This record gives sequence, C-alpha cells and structure tokens, in this order.
Amino acid sequence: MKLSIIVPCYEEEKVLKKFYNITTEILTQNNYNYEIIFVNDGSKDNTKNIIKDLSSNDKKVKFASFSRNFGKEAAMLAGLTFASGDAYIIMDADLQHPPSLIPEMVKGYKEGFDQVIARRTRKGESVSRSSVSKLYYRLINKFVDVELTDGIGDFRLLSKRAANAIVKMQEYNRFSKGLFSWIGFEEKVIEYDNIIRGEGESKWTFSKLLSYGIDGIISFNNKPLRVTIYLGFFVTLLAVLYVIFSFFQKVIYGIDVPGYFTTISSVLILGGIQLISLGVIGEYIGRIYYETKRRPHFIIEDQSIERE
Ligand code: UDP
Ligand code: MG
Repeated sequence: MKLSIIVPCYEEEKVLKKFYNITTEILTQNNYNYEIIFVNDGSKDNTKNIIKDLSSNDKKVKFASFSRNFGKEAAMLAGLTFASGDAYIIMDADLQHPPSLIPEMVKGYKEGFDQVIARRTRKGESVSRSSVSKLYYRLINKFVDVELTDGIGDFRLLSKRAANAIVKMQEYNRFSKGLFSWIGFEEKVIEYDNIIRGEGESKWTFSKLLSYGIDGIISFNNKPLRVTIYLGFFVTLLAVLYVIFSFFQKVIYGIDVPGYFTTISSVLILGGIQLISLGVIGEYIGRIYYETKRRPHFIIEDQSIERE
C-alpha cells in the first residue's frame, strides 16, 4: 500500500524543513511506502526553493508550484490530482496537524474506512474565535444539506475512490468541508488536541473567515433563496392585512391619517428586505458566472510530477 501525503504550502518557509523532518521520521519508522507532495500555492517567500531542494534530495518528495496564489482549496485539489498512492492524507504545513496521527489514520484505512478524519478540540484557542465558530456551526447546519461538524477540517485520510470522487467535482467554488461530507463513504473520526501555530502566521483574517463562512452556506444549497421567498410571502401578507385594515378604517370611520410613521417604516423595512434579497440572488448569480467560465482551478508554473 502506498501513502500520499499532500501538503498545501503558502509562505511556509519557516516550518517546512521541520515539517519534512518530523513527517519523514514517522513515515520511515512505520515502514510505509510513501510520497510527499508539496503544493506551493504561489508563495512570495522562499517556500518554492525549499520544496525544490527537498525534492531533489529525496526521491519520495514531489512538488507542484502554482503561478500565483490560488487558495488552499485549489492546492488540495492539485495534490489529489497528482498523487499516485492508494490512500491520501491532506495535511497543513504548519505542524498544526500532528504527523504523529498518521499511523492511527492508516490503521483506520486498513480497517476499511474510506475517510479517516482527524477532529480537533478547541483547547487553547481564544474564547472569541471558538465561540464564533460554535455559533457558526450551529447556524450553518440549519442551512446546509450536508452535515458539518465543528473541529473537522481538511486534515484527513482519503481512500483512492474517495479522492477520485473529490477530484471529479470540478466546481469552481470549492468548499471542501462540504465536498468531503457530500461524497459520503464510511468515516472514522479520531480526536487530537488543538495545537497553536508555531512559526509563521495564520493566513486567516476576519474578513477571509467571514467570506469563507458565507461560501459555506451559499455554495451548498439554495436554502437562502427559499428563506428569501418565505420572507417575501410573510411581508406581503402583512402588507395585505394592513391595506385591508386601513381600507375599512377609512370607509367606516372616515379617518384619513397622514401616517408619517407607517410610511417611513414600511419603506425602510421593505427597502432593507429587497436589498438583502438582491444580495442573496446576486451571490448565486456571481457563482453561476464563475462556474460558466470553466476556468482551470490552478495554473502550474513548475512541477516535478508528470501528469498522465
Ligand atoms: N494555505 C494555502 N494557500 C492559502 C492559504 C493557506 O495553501 O492561500 C495553506 C497553508 O500553507 C497551510 C494550510 O493551508 O499549510 C492552512 O493555512 P493556515 O495555517 O494559514 O490556516 P489555519 O491553520 O489558521 O486554519
Ligand atoms: Mg494553520
């Protein structure tokens, strides 16, 4: 059995060597037949040279390098496309995904699971970030058709057929947490303690997290569109009731109140709802726009792997 370790790297010059040393030690200790595939996601630092060096000194190390930053989702897809093993493990380069878990994941694979997922506890994370995450997962699971669990990320082992299923999904807006869940197959979950990033910096800014969150909701279904329709029905119903009410008020009592308050509030509320609905529709149209272009997910500038 051959194991492919897939590592997306974006500006990871500080940790790469350490990552390589620790990981190869564990892999060789366990006598695995393996390859490590580093995907350089258009880093501007020395990442590319480091992985090229590693690859020329060690036949088991392969690399692909993007012409610019295409994002982690694209890097993972590239890794899955190029890997040639029977089982694939996707790992972060920053050692937040402990390589010591590899043997346990492989064990799960040998037991017959197609996905072995490493689930992270949120120990040691800032309270604000972990409570935002918790709230997000509670919310998103109401909205999304696939099951998403807190603490489950991209650190997982995929069997060849599971990986093939992922690669087959060539959609442009990739929300891999959803994709992994969507393909199904039997899963095994193993837990590990959260590790604070040692070197370098997390590339997640608040605005990136927010946009990732919206991606998660929108890229998986059309429930937001549904909610908008219900909202529209509800507001229309209220409006009709109000019109009937004012009509009888006028006919029976002959009162014709100017009603500044009602006018301005209905204009504002309706305006708000319309803008939100437009935004929701716009998000979907934007996605359709990107999908119809059928652009490649990434562009390779240099690689050690021959593509079949
Ligand atoms: N990464 C990538 N492209 C990007 C951003 C990140 O390939 O545009 C890689 C990064 O090098 C790391 C992994 O994705 O191996 C996770 O990134 P990071 O540690 O910044 O995210 P976090 O662990 O905070 O979720
Ligand atoms: Mg990290």
